[in-house]
Amino acid sequence: MKRKLVDAMPLRPEEARTAWREGHGDHPLDRYLRTGRIPHIWCPGCGIGIAFTAFVKALEQSGASLDKTVVVSGIGCSGRAAGYLNLDTYHTTHGRAVPFATGLKLARPELNVVVFSGDGDLFAIGGNHTIHAARRNVDITLICINNFNFGMTGGQSGPTTPLRARTSTTPYGCAEPPFNLIQLTEAAGAVYAARWTVLHTHEMRNSFAEAMKKRGFSFVEVISPCPTGFARLNKLGTPLDLMNYFRDNSYLSETLAPDDPAPSFSSRIAVGRFVDRERPTFLDMYNEWVVAGAGESKGRGSP
Ligand code: SF4
Repeated sequence: MKRKLVDAMPLRPEEARTAWREGHGDHPLDRYLRTGRIPHIWCPGCGIGIAFTAFVKALEQSGASLDKTVVVSGIGCSGRAAGYLNLDTYHTTHGRAVPFATGLKLARPELNVVVFSGDGDLFAIGGNHTIHAARRNVDITLICINNFNFGMTGGQSGPTTPLRARTSTTPYGCAEPPFNLIQLTEAAGAVYAARWTVLHTHEMRNSFAEAMKKRGFSFVEVISPCPTGFARLNKLGTPLDLMNYFRDNSYLSETLAPDDPAPSFSSRIAVGRFVDRERPTFLDMYNEWVVAGAGESKGRGSP
């Protein structure tokens, strides 16, 4: 028997949410979510939801005040995370999450400011902002979901697309070497840098919590499968195959050699906490040199 058109129509988000709750009840993490916006937009098999859940658990683990935690994101699949969180969140324009977060931190230093976004947003369009925030040691946390392509806009190549990988804009293979994001942020001045795959849920959660507690520019890279874009175009198999790849090809390390390859699905992936060091934050320096210096010169020039 043919289904009526009205029966075949997908549920609206609030209807789907109500149906889900009736079947499952409340979830313990619901208080961190804008539940009316669930279900989310991420594709089946995408890793962003795993990283998002780890981040929510890290919020709980770190004991961060929800009233004082702000999450900023840019554009892209990962950038949608901000809209699902029941916190003060900002979904900014493409590549501008870091300057927005920087301004927020400078205006309200007591806030715990986290940027949650993707590799394209943070290292292509926003790459300039990211390296200078690391150089200044602005006291914010950057969480970068690295899926090797611009997923939301159709699977185009980006700054982390592995050499020779196929994307919608590199059908014969990418001819550009990718950034190694850990080496890049370390060289730019980050005081904390860690990398995990979405298979490493506990380690990722611990790193998120550590990074949020760290004073200064902290960075966590999460290698995440994009089954709809990158994996399909490169014939990498099912989402389960991708998780098996992470299990079989990632290894724990405390340091990254200068020639360590950027992560890809054709080489082993070093994971771990690679950088944990101290240096004055931008506001420390600003208060010591600029604010204090301005006060002194005012004092000298005063009658
Ligand atoms: Fe995830 Fe890729 Fe789908 Fe975006 S396009 S939600 S990154 S699987």
